[in-house]
Amino acid sequence: MNLVVFKMNYNEILKNGVNFLKQNKIKNPFLDAELILSKVINKKREEILLNTNNKLKHNDILNFKNFLLRRKQREPIAYILGYKYFWKHKFLTNNSVLIPRPDTELLIEEALKYLPKSKSKKILDIGTGSGCIIISLLKERPKCLASAVDISKKAINVAKNNAKLHQLENKINFINIDIDKYKSYNYDLIISNPPYINSIDLNRLDVDIKFHEPKLALSGGFDGYTEIKKVIKKSKTLLKVNGKLLIEIGHKQKTQSVKILMDNGFYINKISKDLSGKDRCIVSTKL
Ligand code: GLN
Repeated sequence: MNLVVFKMNYNEILKNGVNFLKQNKIKNPFLDAELILSKVINKKREEILLNTNNKLKHNDILNFKNFLLRRKQREPIAYILGYKYFWKHKFLTNNSVLIPRPDTELLIEEALKYLPKSKSKKILDIGTGSGCIIISLLKERPKCLASAVDISKKAINVAKNNAKLHQLENKINFINIDIDKYKSYNYDLIISNPPYINSIDLNRLDVDIKFHEPKLALSGGFDGYTEIKKVIKKSKTLLKVNGKLLIEIGHKQKTQSVKILMDNGFYINKISKDLSGKDRCIVSTKL
């Protein structure tokens, strides 16, 4: 990368950055270059575009270059920036947690229908990762009581930091445990976006995901159902009668997931489609 290391302005460095990303076949070169520059100089994108002749400090140029090199290695922009927006809020992200996906917002939308504003329901998030699901729910329904578990200690730390960022550290109980060992009952609602990718699809994922996001958060075992089954079986014992289980699934997993749910005594309320029209979320009730 040929960056003149003095007296470069925003416009010039962006051009350099975009070219570099293009040469390396990165998908959104303009957006990524702007986001990276805005992180480096700690200014909003709008401010950059309004002040294209501003000069950069030597150190900022070096940082910009380092971030571009990370993007060249296909590190996702959410890890480089250290955050990602989900639902209505900003969530801290690093390579210990799955990057929150817009499709997962479907789970929030559906869950809110079963959580009346005035009631204090007891909620559990299984495999909380960044904590994006449970934090978004609690922001909408502050009267609820919430717990969130994850087998990864590093993920729990990220989730706790996110809870702090959103002033919910005293309202969500984060527990680093394998859900199989968890023993707290009588939940009104359990929500989970478990790892559900099978071993063949896992190998075919984009390099950005495959080499950077945690396998633990993606892999659903050989057939993709190991964690889905675990969540359903455990939810059966943790939920109250008539309690709801909302689970995200892969788009080809509807039939088998419905079967597992029914075999475990759940009634299927609804199957919702994601933004691209694929089956993505099952709402069910423990009978
Ligand atoms: N609950 C988190 C999310 O939806 C993490 C899910 C996971 O790691 N599979 O983003």
